[in-house]
Amino acid sequence: MQERLRYFPMTIIARDPLVTNQASTNGDQPILRAVIQVPASRLEPGPRGPRFHVVGFDASRRTLDRPARLAPMRGDSAGWDYRDRFAKADDRTLLRDPAFHAQNVYAIAARTLGFFETALGRPVPWAFGSSQLYLVPRAFAEANAYYSDDDRALLFGYFNSQASGRIMTCLAHDIVAHETTHAILDGLRRRFDTPGLPDQAGFHEGFADLVALLSILSARESIQAVLGDPGQARVRADRLTFDGLRSSVLFTIGRQFGNALHLNRGDGLRRSIDQEPTTAWKDLRNPEWAEPHRRGEILVAAVIRTYLHMWTNRLIPIVGAGTIDRGRASEEGATAAKHLLNMVIRAIDYCPPVEFELADFLTAIVASEHEVNPDDEYGYVEALKEGFRSFGIEVQGAPDWVAPPTGWPTYRDFSYASLRSDPDETFRFIWDHARFLGIDPAYYLHVENVRPAVRTGPRGFVVSETVVDYVQELILSRADLDKLAQPTKPGDPPFTLPSTEIIPDKTKLKLWGGGTIIFDEFGAVKYQRFKRLDDWSRQQRRLQYLVDRGLWDTKGRLGFSLGVPLGQRFAEFHHQSPNLAEEW
Ligand SMILES: [Zn+2]
Repeated sequence: MQERLRYFPMTIIARDPLVTNQASTNGDQPILRAVIQVPASRLEPGPRGPRFHVVGFDASRRTLDRPARLAPMRGDSAGWDYRDRFAKADDRTLLRDPAFHAQNVYAIAARTLGFFETALGRPVPWAFGSSQLYLVPRAFAEANAYYSDDDRALLFGYFNSQASGRIMTCLAHDIVAHETTHAILDGLRRRFDTPGLPDQAGFHEGFADLVALLSILSARESIQAVLGDPGQARVRADRLTFDGLRSSVLFTIGRQFGNALHLNRGDGLRRSIDQEPTTAWKDLRNPEWAEPHRRGEILVAAVIRTYLHMWTNRLIPIVGAGTIDRGRASEEGATAAKHLLNMVIRAIDYCPPVEFELADFLTAIVASEHEVNPDDEYGYVEALKEGFRSFGIEVQGAPDWVAPPTGWPTYRDFSYASLRSDPDETFRFIWDHARFLGIDPAYYLHVENVRPAVRTGPRGFVVSETVVDYVQELILSRADLDKLAQPTKPGDPPFTLPSTEIIPDKTKLKLWGGGTIIFDEFGAVKYQRFKRLDDWSRQQRRLQYLVDRGLWDTKGRLGFSLGVPLGQRFAEFHHQSPNLAEEW
């Protein structure tokens, strides 16, 4: 038997069917394609692998396609001999053949999951407990696509547009990567879709866009195809500047989708790169900035603008006679994208599990890079700090480093192996060291995850850690909260909720706190990021936001759930309101 491949090279549509390959000499193949490396595993018809299961069910037409067979099912190597039968297919096949649609979503979703597992150094679980996520490439006749945890699925819609004909969201690389990221982030940070601070819902959206953009930018072919004249080996240097490149299609999310719906005057769904630095988003009285996608754009703008500055700066030394080699320019762009993608994924482990704000993300990047890439040779961390600063986001003081303790904490009587794997043992550790960790044990505390992580820095530097998340919860009436919540420090403004006409005294409220503790490779605590439950000014901000957004649940309570059926939470985020369309 021949040796099994580690990766399957799979043909996908590089961007979406509207982005063409101007260098193509075959008239049947104008759509720009890319071949991506997908982590290999046995493929049953579907395709169905260990983490994804493509189902050709169309709920609008009530039809079920025959499962696509991408690998022969005969003999000892049944399911292993994947062959890319779309490498030479014409465009008509890519647009029409359900088997290609299945391959396209499978390949992009599996590659996206691969990015996370490589950056975090461990398998990444789905939030719903089973190993396989359903991918439904033609789920319904609707201009939408979403992650549904109830259905354990990513559902991709399709629709007809007068100008562009049939639009299939499963053929847009950015939409598939965006939805896959929602599912992955939901598994890593389950609490981020509880009713939280305004940045939390925005982060889900912004982070999904960010991974989608960096995923596209990390493929050299995608960049090269849109740089300058494809017939020329060199590109004019004055076109490869921040201002020359920012208008490029490379930075547009939902290009074909948005154009077909005539959103934003024919310029795709979102172009966060065009968001000039501002702190206006902090003003929640402006409803525009309370909307999750819009708020998420601040994160995308801060990172992607930094990316473009870093990329174009790397090009300056390779300018010759006013031009730059196209291949080199694309290579530099892809390298910078891969580096940033790793950084933003690694930071997730260093974020608090609840009560998240954008400043926590920047703080997490700084802390995790300090561990894995202390030299920061190319100045990525400083550049990102600068990028976030231009939007009014600063590192939150010093990260919550636990200083080398004098006699504390004590590891005597703790099992090193259990501390790295067992939530009860970790709970006992937190319990015994509550004061040292600054945790108030009066509030209910629950350890949610104990996960190993192995990170590799850019120069092969390996850091092993154990990541522990815990949450604290408090359920009480509004009247009781008014009595409990006193200003944290003397001189702080008093705790004030909206009037009792808006939140009656008997209203049940749910408050959260919690944190992430990182244990080093010897089992010792080295870092903690946490959100006190009794930070009343933060609780006040959160409750005010939930009231302003009308996020009451069906029982008239506040802070328990988002008041929509579980499976529809992300669908709501993607709902196209006519007002938003105007804004975007
Ligand atoms: Zn989304």
